[in-house]
Amino acid sequence: MSGGARQIPAFHREKALVLFSGGQDSTTSLAWALARFAEVETIGFDYGQRHRVELDCRIAVSDRLRREFPDWGARLRTDHLIDCCVLGRISDTALTREAAISFGASGLPNTFVPGRNIVFFALAAALGYRRGIRHLVGGMCETDFSGYPDCRDDTLKALQATLSLGMDHRFVIHTPLMWRDKAATWELAWELGNEALVELIRNETHSCYLGDRGHSHQWGHGCGVCPACELRRAGWEAFTARRRCGPVDRSPAP
Ligand code: ZN
Repeated sequence: MSGGARQIPAFHREKALVLFSGGQDSTTSLAWALARFAEVETIGFDYGQRHRVELDCRIAVSDRLRREFPDWGARLRTDHLIDCCVLGRISDTALTREAAISFGASGLPNTFVPGRNIVFFALAAALGYRRGIRHLVGGMCETDFSGYPDCRDDTLKALQATLSLGMDHRFVIHTPLMWRDKAATWELAWELGNEALVELIRNETHSCYLGDRGHSHQWGHGCGVCPACELRRAGWEAFTARRRCGPVDRSPAP
């Protein structure tokens, strides 16, 4: 592994399947899985998202992970890109059609794609069932409140039980970012892969709701004003301020 990263033993002899979108959270979760599982496969979804740049970012991220982290690259196996365009056709959201980002009467932003994570995990479980994988990993988080009910811990625990019962196959849903804010997510990347991984995530992952890769900032690429960019910027600034101000907790990531 490059960058002088501390090697965390792969304590699992098992395989994991990571929901990998090409964003900061799913890339950090992918690194978390690569540090733990013997083999890691990835699954991504083409659901007719307005800005398909994140699908390109998936390829750039996995290419650099293989090149710059050879130990992880040896464990990073098949990528599965699933056609999920029916979600875009039945949804009416700012991620699947041209619309300004706003909050609806429900209090949820119109970037919420109803059922998205539930459908994604159901498809991941179906694929995992066929490929003998029971560990499913996702970058969902309810700490930086997005308002998305399908990112909540209770939703995903219920989904784990539903999928396990419904397929009569024990699934474990791992969400390593669930209780971390965005600054702590950057810190986890540092713990897993030091500066090399932080730089990879900063340069190659995509968060911006507007699909903007033309503007470069200290925290990465994006429009700089949409809620996703704002969250990413604030997290980066808190992370870099903490690193400047004092001893960093070097305890192993959970
Ligand atoms: Zn943006």
